[in-house]
Amino acid sequence: MNSDCLFCKIVKKEIPASIFYEDDLSVAFLDINPINLGHALLLPKEHYENIFDLPEELLAKLSVKAKKIARAIKESLRADGVNVTSNNGRASGQLVFHAHIHIIPRYENDGFTHWKGKRKYNDGEAVEVAEKIKEKL
Ligand code: AMP
Ligand code: ZN
Repeated sequence: MNSDCLFCKIVKKEIPASIFYEDDLSVAFLDINPINLGHALLLPKEHYENIFDLPEELLAKLSVKAKKIARAIKESLRADGVNVTSNNGRASGQLVFHAHIHIIPRYENDGFTHWKGKRKYNDGEAVEVAEKIKEKL
């Protein structure tokens, strides 16, 4: 636990949140500033900063739970689709440095758009980039 961490405080019930799921490893609650109603956050109870220091076994369990929550959100809120995503690192838009998965109900024409790709690969560049990634796997 990290005493300065907002989500650790929610886990410990020191600050209120609309928690709708909890087990020994994880907790899920409604995002306070939702994209659509039902936008939820799923997180491990233990403090990990993001996906990079989250143990794989725990990540696997969270992923399975995220799928169940996504289905529950889709069915209960009659969503047309669901975004399941995480921000990892400040540059990615991570604001709270306690690992979490966003589960966001989406509706046709709800007004939210995906990021617009702004780069193009030059000749041979895609192969080079794919190779760089491959070397680290
Ligand atoms: P991220 O940018 O992935 O770190 O997202 C952090 C999310 O936490 C944002 O979507 C915030 O709206 C949400 N958030 C911040 N404070 C609270 C809170 N007290 N209760 C619920 N959600 C929160
Ligand atoms: Zn924390």
